[in-house]
Amino acid sequence: MMHYTQKNAVFAVYLFTISLLAALLTGCAPSGGANAPRSETAFLLDTVVRVTYYDADDAAAVRESLDLCAAESKIFSRTDADSELFRLNAAGSMAVSGELLGVLRTALAFCAATDGRFDVTMGGVSALYGFSSDAPAVPDPGTLAAALSHVGWERVEIDGDTVTLGDPEAVIDLGAAAKGYIADRMKALLTERGVERAIIDLGGNVLCLGEKPDGSAYRVGVRYPEAGRSDAIATVAVRGSSVVTSGVYERSFVADGVAYHHILDPETGLPVRNGLRSVTVLGPESLRCDVLSTACFVLGLEEGMALIGAEEGYEALFITDDLALHPTAGFAAAMER
Ligand code: ADP
Ligand code: MG
Repeated sequence: MMHYTQKNAVFAVYLFTISLLAALLTGCAPSGGANAPRSETAFLLDTVVRVTYYDADDAAAVRESLDLCAAESKIFSRTDADSELFRLNAAGSMAVSGELLGVLRTALAFCAATDGRFDVTMGGVSALYGFSSDAPAVPDPGTLAAALSHVGWERVEIDGDTVTLGDPEAVIDLGAAAKGYIADRMKALLTERGVERAIIDLGGNVLCLGEKPDGSAYRVGVRYPEAGRSDAIATVAVRGSSVVTSGVYERSFVADGVAYHHILDPETGLPVRNGLRSVTVLGPESLRCDVLSTACFVLGLEEGMALIGAEEGYEALFITDDLALHPTAGFAAAMER
């Protein structure tokens, strides 16, 4: 708990500095006028959430969307004892909200499509690493094996609005889907409030509304897939779409000279190592982009390409260990060189 508190304090200072800078920039920007971008940030979902917008009149709606993000994160957190997902995991069987049910159904479809290499019941294994803590560590093989014995998406049953884990020790984790879903909800709210242009960014899970005030596309960067780097290896032109990346650098740590990242193989409980550094998915719905990016990542380049090829309207960029870019045709067309 102490760790989280310290971390939040650091982020609070970070956010304060960013807001101060943003305020200064908007205040003094020579091109500042009606169309200057503004943004609101919050630390939610264990990441920095930022909504960028262009019309000063949209400020209240943008704040409302951040409140919605906070409320939604209360549904999907695996660790927050107040969350609906936490209560489901504790109860083993429970009637759930339409929102939790919808996201779970989408995620389960990809458990089937990937033959269980994407598995929503990996929560107990993920928890052992403490990726979000100040002291992540590699679990010992015995502990890992015990947690792995409770992994198995096929045992999860849905009957009406009641979800049953099958194995009472199983822990559902929707970390690969929740941010995408929440981004979609925030976009729907902003649209309802009449906001026409904005960029919703949930720690790199990006969803755009409309286009820039001058009619040009937003330019969304795909991060260089290396820890400690934040520059772009590629840029995509986007109007209204979502861009979501799953990568080895997002939450990772080094132990005994070996890098560990947070996308885990349900067979071994160890980070997936298949020659991929990251997968970025471009498409209309952020939930689907989010699940697809993780699912394509666990499948690897060849099978991941086949999965994305079967998804109408969705395109992807795979980056391999040699930093080579492997885009689908539609992604290549959206890429700016
Ligand atoms: P991020 O959280 O950085 O946006 P992803 O969308 O790729 O990244 O999701 C990674 C998360 O998915 C992990 O933090 C964990 O909660 C969960 N996860 C890890 N391994 C698997 C897996 N094999 N199948 C499904 N979900 C997984
Ligand atoms: Mg994902």
